[in-house]
Amino acid sequence: MNLTDVTTDLWITCLGNDSLLQPVWDNLRLNYRDYLRSPLFPVVLTVSSYFVLCLPYLVCDIIGDRWGWVQQFKIQPSHRPTASTLLHCAGVTLYNHVFLVLPASVAQWAWRPPVDLPEQAPFLMELIAGVIGNLLLFDFQYFIWHVLHHKIRWLYVSFHAIHHKYSCPFALATQCLSGWELVTVGFWTTLNPVILQSHLLTTWAFMVFHVYVSIEDHCGYDFPWSTSRLIPFGIYGGPSDHDMHHQKPNTNFAPHFNHWDKIFGTYADDLKPRD
Ligand SMILES: [Zn+2]
Ligand SMILES: [Zn+2]
Repeated sequence: MNLTDVTTDLWITCLGNDSLLQPVWDNLRLNYRDYLRSPLFPVVLTVSSYFVLCLPYLVCDIIGDRWGWVQQFKIQPSHRPTASTLLHCAGVTLYNHVFLVLPASVAQWAWRPPVDLPEQAPFLMELIAGVIGNLLLFDFQYFIWHVLHHKIRWLYVSFHAIHHKYSCPFALATQCLSGWELVTVGFWTTLNPVILQSHLLTTWAFMVFHVYVSIEDHCGYDFPWSTSRLIPFGIYGGPSDHDMHHQKPNTNFAPHFNHWDKIFGTYADDLKPRD
């Protein structure tokens, strides 16, 4: 009996046999089976989520200075991306997608067999716990990667400096990354649900949520619905803390939560003056 079976048995014992997600899962697997089984599906899901979720923030970046309500949430109010910075990031993203994501997707499509869709949906709490577990594992992996790529000059210059071109981040800067960084992030996002034996629905939910919080980290706005404001006890960094990393690059190395930075003394909160 593997970890997933044990977890599922535990949920069944606690909550009964029916998952709230079963009708959704049945609908998906019975009507979209061939699409969902394709090894291309997670790639299409994450790439399309990225562009769709960037869009509202892009609108804020373009017309936000004429929109007082939005402007009040801008973390660095006097800095706004110009057309050339937006185009630069869009160009880097396009380049990475054409020369890395597309060939990797074709290779997956050619060599990986279609996945099996289990009949049973995960329980809602199992899905939420799985998304949080995957996010915590990614947070730990990226923290180590990030510290190394700031402390070792060659690594910084070769692979991470491009992401620090802008000290005032904006949504499209999220994937303004070197190919190596994009591959590493993609590798962990794919591997972690396998390590944690997550259900496919949990895996896809994690992938989309991870895209969302990564964009939110860089969006440049601290809206009332920021993940850092929704998660209690100040344990989640969110846009303000990652914005601080772009202003003071030797602080706030963890991408999402802030416990690793607090443990290693690299945490800086967002109360310090900007501009
Ligand atoms: Zn960043
Ligand atoms: Zn950095």
